[in-house]
Amino acid sequence: MSTYKFSPAERAAIYSTHGEKCYLCNEPLNLKTMEVDHVIPESLIEKPKELQATLSAFGLPSNFDLNSFANWLPACRPCNGTKNDLVFEPTPIIQVHLQQAIAKAADAQALTAETVSKRKIANALNVLERARDDGTLDDEVIQTLSEFLSQHRQPDLSGQPILLTPLYEIITEQDGIQLVRGPYGVGGRPAIRNPDSSFSCPNCGSIAAWNGARCVICGELNDE
Ligand SMILES: [Zn+2]
Ligand SMILES: [Zn+2]
Repeated sequence: MSTYKFSPAERAAIYSTHGEKCYLCNEPLNLKTMEVDHVIPESLIEKPKELQATLSAFGLPSNFDLNSFANWLPACRPCNGTKNDLVFEPTPIIQVHLQQAIAKAADAQALTAETVSKRKIANALNVLERARDDGTLDDEVIQTLSEFLSQHRQPDLSGQPILLTPLYEIITEQDGIQLVRGPYGVGGRPAIRNPDSSFSCPNCGSIAAWNGARCVICGELNDE
């Protein structure tokens, strides 16, 4: 059971620096419903002996903080739930995951600090946190967050849709066109790997799904 209360800025930093996907199954996550997993379970804080044995098994210092970016990774609900039911064993794959978290800890910390200092983004993240999972967000919040995420995304995600909430879904794919439902309705996007950059949205950077001149992911109207 998790007791640490993540701030919206911490969640966004973990989401963005680790590529917006579940570290266990690699499924793309949306920022709203993603969960943060403690790679070494938080419950070990209550079991100092077991904790010290685990830290030394991984070659980590005895003051390693379980509630720090070096131990937090983004996960989907099913994976996180399954993991919580298992008895923790310090295995080599967990070592690999820890290295992943440690390698990006400073980046995530810096992004959190930057986010907190930008009132507009911090406010929009608070609104996203309080919104219902299936609730719609207002234009200002979606545009602010889409722009923020696109600025900080990992290079290999360039052109992928920005997933703020579970409202994004691929409805059908036919004749090279994907029909997608986003916060701004249903739109089409090319279902190929590297579509022409003219399909990309100037606001959110997604190879957006377009409904006429509107990006259904962030609401941007592109009337050129
Ligand atoms: Zn997963
Ligand atoms: Zn857009």
